[in-house]
Amino acid sequence: MGELTKKYIEEAERYSAHNYHPLDVVLVKGEGVWVWDVEGNKYLDMLSAYSALNQGHRHPEIVKALVEQAGRITLTSRAFHNDKMGAFLKKLCEIAGFEKALPMNTGAEAVETAIKAARKWGYLKKKVEKDKAEIIVCENNFHGRTTTIVGFSSEPQYRYGFGPFTPGFKLIPYNDPKALEDAITENTVGFLFEPVQGEGGVIVPDEGYYRKVREITRRHNVLLMADEIQTGFGRTGRLFALEHEGVKPDILIVGKALGGGVYPVSAILADNHIMDVFTPGDHGSTFGGNPLACAVGMAALDVLVKEKLPERAQELGEYFMGELRKINSPAVKEVRGKGLLIGVEIKEEYGDARPFCERLKERGILAKETHKQVIRFAPPLIIKREEIDWALERIREVLLEV
Ligand SMILES: *Cc1c(COP(=O)(O)O)cnc(C)c1O
Repeated sequence: MGELTKKYIEEAERYSAHNYHPLDVVLVKGEGVWVWDVEGNKYLDMLSAYSALNQGHRHPEIVKALVEQAGRITLTSRAFHNDKMGAFLKKLCEIAGFEKALPMNTGAEAVETAIKAARKWGYLKKKVEKDKAEIIVCENNFHGRTTTIVGFSSEPQYRYGFGPFTPGFKLIPYNDPKALEDAITENTVGFLFEPVQGEGGVIVPDEGYYRKVREITRRHNVLLMADEIQTGFGRTGRLFALEHEGVKPDILIVGKALGGGVYPVSAILADNHIMDVFTPGDHGSTFGGNPLACAVGMAALDVLVKEKLPERAQELGEYFMGELRKINSPAVKEVRGKGLLIGVEIKEEYGDARPFCERLKERGILAKETHKQVIRFAPPLIIKREEIDWALERIREVLLEV
């Protein structure tokens, strides 16, 4: 480790809570798909801040929108109107095909918002008995870190020491439509799931799963709640992953890339018959819908559309995954993914994925393990084929030197 790197890490470790275990690299600059560390080394960013950087680092149009808006007004609170929120939500609704949107900041807040919407819809519209509403969720889920959300995680570490938890959630296996149908009762208001389980190790459900859960939830008058915080905005090769099967959820949850890699912006989308359960005072956020976030969000959406990022992810994802599958390494158990959300699972007898990520870092690629055995490759969607080839050469070396 270089002296400078060491100094910065020591300072951070001294003063920050130890709730993360980052790779030993201190970044000081980013541009497009590339980042630089404090020693002057250059890396290809293959994590993209867990898909919050689909448009790449410091996209000029997004930074321009940020700076311009910062020169006018940044925060009003929702106590007053601002001139950007309507235009932003209109664009978001039109692109996603919903009647209304409710802006928040982080992904976890948007998930909480979706839970509140589904529960209130359940009481007001489905006439579920007071305080009986149930939401069905999947094993191996990741929906964020609030106390309510970790309460329905199946990952012991996410829960340990944080109880007591919010009741009203029921866990079923992922990728199992029959388990969903069996779990539904008259009190079920929603089914919350990820189209691809990103943090859970890039788990891709079977073809047809989205259509089946749509059909089951519709038949039982249960809201289909899609957490597309990681899979949304082009990552899997469609604007939203459920579009792979032509499915529209009742509540769409978005975040990460909606902020264009520069500012936290999240939202839920739904049609009027659901969103109208909210009345003034029911829900809110001091920063949600602020003009700076809205200006950034609009620019982030414009870039996605203008640069055809979903199409790029589809084409380059197929290429990248195909080439990864050709690497004949005894350490690799499986290569899987959708679009540019790709997981390479390392066999347990070859150790954890982390040392592989550390060796990738030495060769100029930043990737991070998820769920111990899986290396996730999720570069910014603006990546070029030559850059993927550059990465493949290095990934090949690392996977073959075992
Ligand atoms: C990242 C993520 C979240 C949480 O978003 P935060 O902005 O970190 O709160 C929720 N759901 C999914 C699927 C995610 O990938």
